[in-house]
Amino acid sequence: MKAIVLFGSPGSGKGTQAKLLTQCLKVPHISTGDMLRERVRGAELGNAVAETMQSGALVSDELVNAMVEERLARPDTADGFILDGYPRTLAQADRLIRWLDERGVREVVVHLAVDYNVIIARLMGRRQCPRCGTLYNLASQPPHKAGFCDLDGARLVIREDDSEPVIRERLDSYERQTRPVWEHLRAVGRRVIELDASAGTPEVVFQEICQAIEVVQPAPPEK
Ligand code: AMP
Repeated sequence: MKAIVLFGSPGSGKGTQAKLLTQCLKVPHISTGDMLRERVRGAELGNAVAETMQSGALVSDELVNAMVEERLARPDTADGFILDGYPRTLAQADRLIRWLDERGVREVVVHLAVDYNVIIARLMGRRQCPRCGTLYNLASQPPHKAGFCDLDGARLVIREDDSEPVIRERLDSYERQTRPVWEHLRAVGRRVIELDASAGTPEVVFQEICQAIEVVQPAPPEK
């Protein structure tokens, strides 16, 4: 069972790393941000949720916890999963810990630590394909043809929550509500790994994650 929790501030590269990990480990990538955006687009969730997301604040724990539990109950998670953007509050962390412990699942929490100024620069330069979701960055990973997706040619967009005031609110929510989750997970003895993800390319960070996960894999039982 490969249960990986990717932890880090907005712009730390969780989404990119989750995509690389999901290809390598063949377990589903569960991004609460993507799930919420999909449900808002499909009108399953109302304006209040859309407005909260557009402001950069967090949506309610009840909604997100229920959504994640429903997703984790699907059969494709039998061999593991990669959580991206969850848990983001102490209440979510406690709920997840209970879920994992009840099933005897031992997760690895990987914290992608990135310098604040690097994060601001990354988020401001972020562009996304509205069709396939591929992320680009004008500074570090530009598309081959400016403004268009390499994979399907769709015109790239700036996500609504990547404007400067919203970026500040998202980073604020992270500091207030999510950073304490990291301290909490360490304090209660979960398996946590911290990586410096400021400078390396996505491929280098990915290699580091793979190595780190190997290191903490459980030892075989003694004969
Ligand atoms: P993300 O794509 O992960 O940056 O998430 C985009 C937005 O979705 C966030 O700014 C929040 O409004 C909302 N969101 C995503 N995950 C969570 C979560 N675990 N708890 C609360 N709100 C979330």
